[in-house]
Amino acid sequence: MTLNETHDPKLTSWVNSAQQVGTDFPIQNLPLAIFRSESTEPFRGGVAIGDQIVDLGAVAQAELFSGEAAAAVTACTKPSLNAFMNMGPGAWSSLRSTLSRGLREGSSLNEKLANCLVPQSEAEYAVPADIGDYTDFYTSIHHATNIGKLFRPDNPLMPNYQWVPIGYHGRSSSIQISGVDVRRPKGQTKAPDALTPSFGPCQRLDYEMEMGIFIGCGNEVGQPIPLDDSDNHIFGLCLLNDWSARDIQAWEYQPLGPFLSKSFATTISPWIVTWEALAPYRKEWTRPTDHPQPLPYLESNHNRSTGAFDIELEVLLETKQMRRNQEPPSQLSVSNFRYSYWTVAQMVAHHTINGCNLRPGDLFGSGTMSGPEPTEAGALIELTKGGKQPVTLTNGEHRTFLEDGDAVIMRGRCQHRNAPKIGFGEAVGTILSAT
Ligand code: CA
Repeated sequence: MTLNETHDPKLTSWVNSAQQVGTDFPIQNLPLAIFRSESTEPFRGGVAIGDQIVDLGAVAQAELFSGEAAAAVTACTKPSLNAFMNMGPGAWSSLRSTLSRGLREGSSLNEKLANCLVPQSEAEYAVPADIGDYTDFYTSIHHATNIGKLFRPDNPLMPNYQWVPIGYHGRSSSIQISGVDVRRPKGQTKAPDALTPSFGPCQRLDYEMEMGIFIGCGNEVGQPIPLDDSDNHIFGLCLLNDWSARDIQAWEYQPLGPFLSKSFATTISPWIVTWEALAPYRKEWTRPTDHPQPLPYLESNHNRSTGAFDIELEVLLETKQMRRNQEPPSQLSVSNFRYSYWTVAQMVAHHTINGCNLRPGDLFGSGTMSGPEPTEAGALIELTKGGKQPVTLTNGEHRTFLEDGDAVIMRGRCQHRNAPKIGFGEAVGTILSAT
């Protein structure tokens, strides 16, 4: 994935808000979402620029583009991005470069494209793809060790962890878009000192800060995707909150892993930042020399030199009291996707090495992206040491786990000395009481 004219940090747009300090969506980003601005309208594709959305339905109708970019825009008029994802890197790149040129300062398409803009403030978003399968990985060794210590003090890190990108098959039906509320689940739990389990609302409700990874082109059954070919199959990244009921999880997770403790809801951000847009923020991936080195199918020079991503991830909490008093949300932690023990390419190569096929719109979670420092933990169970040490919020409130009315806000951003800041927008979910 090489840099091209669309990454030029000097580019500016005739959409003034794209130059606003702090915007997530300068002209170098151009992420995709599925949206509508009226409830009577069909959902369709859009691209973020500043505080506006380029309505790809309107672009198609006005026939502003030609050739491959026109075909790409037509695919984006549908209520999900699967058809566009399936078109492959040539079409993704063609749409990006055509939009980049059209949105640039001085473009001859300025007036016509201006008629296709919709303010983000008027938009309602939908899950951007029909997600056939959702796989949740576990790629932060810091998270795996922290959680392992709580569940198995003598044996925190399982022996396979440093050899296998661990994952489990999640539930795609309950993946929802940012802004949709999350109902506190009920289920079976068993306190360590209780003889039998009881049933009721989850008492240890948690979030997990993860990257979401959307697959673009799939593979045929029996034809693994080689490590260095994964760039041609990955569409882009979003923010992902893997809501987790820790008390339900502790009772159910052995021997086959999490089930109802995770399947009640997963929240993703509306915007998918494309693989191409992320090119300037790739960095070298390393494995400590005293750790096991990857087996050959998970090892390459390309993966070593550019497999990791420098993406800062932030979690904030807004309580009912903060909303009532109009106080800003309280930051819980800041971490980074560069802490991933396995790269996205290794996740794709490993997922398919047995012949398993991926399909356009499939989603991976990276796993909770905790960093090495305690303040970089990506879940409350880590920040509070299993619920034993409450965190103090900026307004003086305390939390061990989530309470009804709490809104969890996730944000992500990339910055590099030779590239502008681009962001992921937000993934937000508010907890409703159990029914
Ligand atoms: Ca997870």
